[in-house]
Amino acid sequence: MIVTIRPGHSAEDVKRALSALGLWVTAVKGADEEGTAHVQFVVEPHSRRVAPEVLRAIEGVAAVLVPAAAHPALDEQPRTVAVGPHQIGADAPFAVISGPCSLDTEERIRALAARLSRAGVRFLRGGAFKPRTSPYAFQGRGAEALEWMKKAARDFGLAVVTECMSEYDVEVVAEYADLIQLGSRNMQNYALLKHVARAERPVLLKRGMAATVEEWLLAAEYLRVHGCPAVVFCERGVRGFDASTRNLLDLGAVALLANVYGLPVVVDPSHGTGRRDLVPSLCRAAKAVGAHGVMAETHDDPGHALSDGPQSLDPYVMEALARELSEPGGDR
Ligand code: PEP
Ligand code: MN
Repeated sequence: MIVTIRPGHSAEDVKRALSALGLWVTAVKGADEEGTAHVQFVVEPHSRRVAPEVLRAIEGVAAVLVPAAAHPALDEQPRTVAVGPHQIGADAPFAVISGPCSLDTEERIRALAARLSRAGVRFLRGGAFKPRTSPYAFQGRGAEALEWMKKAARDFGLAVVTECMSEYDVEVVAEYADLIQLGSRNMQNYALLKHVARAERPVLLKRGMAATVEEWLLAAEYLRVHGCPAVVFCERGVRGFDASTRNLLDLGAVALLANVYGLPVVVDPSHGTGRRDLVPSLCRAAKAVGAHGVMAETHDDPGHALSDGPQSLDPYVMEALARELSEPGGDR
């Protein structure tokens, strides 16, 4: 916002009033066409959010200019998102999304769904179409696995979260998914965003591994503009300089989205760290900073998982964690 001071008024007095409201400002000095000197204050983005009417009422303020919204469709989306029989967001219970990285067999996903649902997990994840760095790595079981997951989810009251990688698969993924995952590698695949949006399902939008928050928000705006009812953001870590963890999990961005922008956001510490021993503590940290849920990979035999075994939790660890995270309370 830009606050213009009435000529002849003390800019210092206005600045004091703005500071008292929690606003940080930078002064810009200029003159209008008649040559009258005037001062304007540019409100810094980390200031408290205050309605423009409140600023207009301050003595000595001539005008308040509000910039056009960069992502108006996103700003209008619901704070709480309906996902199959459940919800994710500010007015919903803390969401625990769990399941294997890749779906491997029907029996395995069914047994895992049964166990996880008893522990308070309400969202079943699992990839049928996998974005793998190497073309020689396992690529996913394809549409058949979606059928297994849907059956298991339905029988245990879970919502289905699964990734769509290509325009060609939107129809089949939308038929089975309650929340369509768009992976980190595709966050800026704008053609895919448009196609997925037209399926009119909520989308779990993972942050690109080198994407700024603004790029992430604008990717969500693409989805909203093209028909997506609501976007749930998923922080999964960004590329860092240190290989000690797979990625750098940016919990500051999570706090910004959840607490300042009021957007639904979940955290994926499995891909964020790449280490199963770090996942539980980062799930707790995610809840403490205001995330609305977590997504953590679980496999009944991580040593033999077809992908991402080293970051997958044993079911008994996930069960205890889901019970703990599902308890009401925390900082939200
Ligand atoms: C996944 O969720 O299994 C996955 C591939 O995640 P990302 O897109 O964050 O790498
Ligand atoms: Mn994975």
